[in-house]
Amino acid sequence: MPIRTIIEPFRIKSVEPLHWTTREERGRSLRMAYYNLFLLPADEVLIDLLTDSGTGAMSTHQWAAIMEGDESYAGSKSFDRFRNSVQGIFGYRHVIPTHQGRAAERILFNVMCKKGDVVPNNTHFDTTRANVEFVGAEALDLPVAEGKQPSFVHPFKGNMDVAALEEVIGRVGRGRVPLVMLTITNNSGGGQPVSMENMQAVSAVCRRNGIPLYFDACRFAENAYFIKLREQGYESKTPKAIAQEMFQLGDGCTMSAKKDGLANIGGFLCTNDDVIAQQEKNLLILTEGYPTYGGLAGRDLEAIAVGVEEVLEEDYLHYRIVSTGYLGTHISDAGVPIVQPPGGHAIYLDARAFLPHIPTEQFPGVALAAELYLEGGIRSVEIGSLMFGAAAKMDLVRLAIPRRVYTQSHIDYVIEVILEVWKRRERILGMRLTYEAPFLRHFTARLEPLPTTDKSVESQFPRGLEG
Ligand SMILES: *Cc1c(COP(=O)(O)O)cnc(C)c1O
Repeated sequence: MPIRTIIEPFRIKSVEPLHWTTREERGRSLRMAYYNLFLLPADEVLIDLLTDSGTGAMSTHQWAAIMEGDESYAGSKSFDRFRNSVQGIFGYRHVIPTHQGRAAERILFNVMCKKGDVVPNNTHFDTTRANVEFVGAEALDLPVAEGKQPSFVHPFKGNMDVAALEEVIGRVGRGRVPLVMLTITNNSGGGQPVSMENMQAVSAVCRRNGIPLYFDACRFAENAYFIKLREQGYESKTPKAIAQEMFQLGDGCTMSAKKDGLANIGGFLCTNDDVIAQQEKNLLILTEGYPTYGGLAGRDLEAIAVGVEEVLEEDYLHYRIVSTGYLGTHISDAGVPIVQPPGGHAIYLDARAFLPHIPTEQFPGVALAAELYLEGGIRSVEIGSLMFGAAAKMDLVRLAIPRRVYTQSHIDYVIEVILEVWKRRERILGMRLTYEAPFLRHFTARLEPLPTTDKSVESQFPRGLEG
């Protein structure tokens, strides 16, 4: 019998202690954070699943590379290593470093979009949408129908609706569509992958209409591995070869190296267009830095150069996808509604189905995230009505798994906490907003639980904003 147990494909060389709190302390922390987990001090969190962005553990090779960082202002050796490593996978002519993904987005949309333009995407991530809208363009989400039903199982729920894309281009005219984007994997749509077949179809529509195709490539390696597992003809290809094939279908990309760059900070913007690249570099110099560092230290460029290659290693990707699926399978087997099938970097609880008694305008996702913190010190994030307002198609609570950080026993603890909250779900209260900012309001919003006459609920989850 072959050994079936999947283990973490690393051993641990440096450890970081966790910090326990009591339930009473967590109730107090919640009130002080206005029930918005972004406002919690991190040392009051036991297991932090707020994001997989910049929270990964670096390898010995990355730490070694960091010591090689060349901090020269211009022409740094570290930039050459970074560019060579990125080009070896992404293949684009120009590689522009940025301090993170949203800086790449801001520069891209400033250069390529104007007021009245339309930018189609399978689903815009929140910073992507905000940056498109900030230049006066419309951020249009065109996911396939399968992607909108949380419980529906389909191998490529991240796909774009190609017929809808053609309809949009026909309706608004190609002159008003400066670029099309494909987010791989589709973060806001549940961390679901896009198939190579769909990328080819989108690319063909773009090329026929003379519209550039850009990838939001944050989780390109996870997407490539899903293609290997699920798409015919890719079983025996390496994740790297699959990634190279994907990127050939486009004209450029934005990337947050805090995801599949396996780094704690960084990002980049790529393009094959010489004219656009020059304009982008000019803007970069204005706010990010000289084009051979773009707001990053030389050592950061080194960490990314190693990270984008390590992330494509098959034993890493196997562990990554299987361990995320482990969390999803264990809670869904107990009846907890999740976005199916489990995504690459996160498990998404379907808060509307988890808390059917809480209407969407009372933020079921925020209420559920607060309960997971109260129960076990787990920090997650709402992706729904608070993040997107009335436009939200789903109310999800994302449990994002940092890369190479938590072991299976941590995840077993998370499973137990979720199942405890599931048992008492009927007594969870809705929320109301007490403060909101004009942009990206979920980062700073303040909320409070709605009043209740049920005394047992009141004591379970004390109200009030004092203290
Ligand atoms: C994280 C992310 C971004 C933005 O990257 P930052 O590094 O956080 O600025 C853009 N798109 C997607 C899909 C993301 O997951």
